[in-house]
This record gives sequence, structure tokens and C-alpha cells, in this order.
Amino acid sequence: MTTNPGESRGTGTKPGQRWSARPRPASAAALAAPTALAPRSACTACGQATGIEPCCQSCGQVLFLPRGLALSTPGLRFGGYLLEAALFVCTLGIGWFIWAFIVFQQGQTPAKQLLHMRVVHITDAGTARWGRMFFREFLAKGIIGVLAYFTLFVPYFWLLWDRNGQELWDKMATTLVVTDPADRLRSPSPDHPTEADAQTW
Ligand SMILES: [Zn+2]
Repeated sequence: MTTNPGESRGTGTKPGQRWSARPRPASAAALAAPTALAPRSACTACGQATGIEPCCQSCGQVLFLPRGLALSTPGLRFGGYLLEAALFVCTLGIGWFIWAFIVFQQGQTPAKQLLHMRVVHITDAGTARWGRMFFREFLAKGIIGVLAYFTLFVPYFWLLWDRNGQELWDKMATTLVVTDPADRLRSPSPDHPTEADAQTW
């Protein structure tokens, strides 16, 4: 079969080929879809294939965050619970509340700040802010706490078998908990811009 010189390459379909292999332009709806929910082909940290989950099932990298920001380990999460309780007692409660109300805006609690952990919101693909932290820490944990009281406290261990390391209050608040040792997800600061700032601003 000879090629027709007048037929420009790539503009038509070959005989027998019904559909063009060219990538279709992304629709407005696809472009507007939240970054966190878009399926990706490979993890940016370990290269393993990824699905629709917001974090890599092999290495825990959170797929909508910069490389190196992964889910906190269960050990760190449970250690955080103990430290939180200790801080609450040591500060007579009131100190913990004041401290928490300051760091909520950074997606943290007092213990999470000391352990360099941070709560991120899946839908926003970024740090959870004050209102979501308030909902997560008091309302969601309160509801799950009541549930746990009647179920042998099993719900507190939910993160051990959850694919995204979520506790039930994380599911209610649509959040994940990541380890952020270099504070890369800290809020924008004009004096100390971070990598995350460059993406946001
Ligand atoms: Zn990975």
C-alpha cells in the first residue's frame, strides 16, 4: 500500500482504524477535578503503580503532596496519642487548648507539632486548616469516642487495617496524617517561603 503524499501525517485515521490514537484534549470538568482524586500511573517516590487511593500502597507517599511526604507510621500515630495526653495533663488542660488553637491553622495539634506530623485535607490537596481541625479534634473524635466506648475501643485501632492509614475521624474529616520533618507544608510566610508556598501562591 502506498502513502498518499497529500495526506498529512497524524491528521486522519488509517484504513480500518476507526478511532484516532491522538490524546483527546482534557475536558473542563476533568481539569477542574480535585488533584487528590485524579488517578496516577506511578508513585513519585517509589515508582510503583498507583490506583485511585490518595496515597501509594507500597511506600505511603501521599500522591498529591511533594515527594517525600508520606503517611505517618502507626507507631508514630499511637505515640502521638500518648504524648497528647501527657501534654494535656502537664499543661493542666488549659495550656493544651491555647496551644492547640494556635497550631490548628497549621494542621497540627501540640503533640503533632512536636513530632513533626501534620493533618492534610484530601479534597483540598493541602494542609487542613482551623475549622477542619476543630471538627476533627472535637466533634469527629467525640462521636468516635462514644462509639469506641461501646465497642471495646476497637475503632481507635482502625488505622492499622485502613488502606490510607485513616482513623474513623479522618474519614469524617476527609483527612490524612503525614510526617513533615522539614515543615514543608507550613503556611505561607513572606520571610520563609516553602516549596508548598510556591505551588499555592
Ligand atoms: Zn510509593
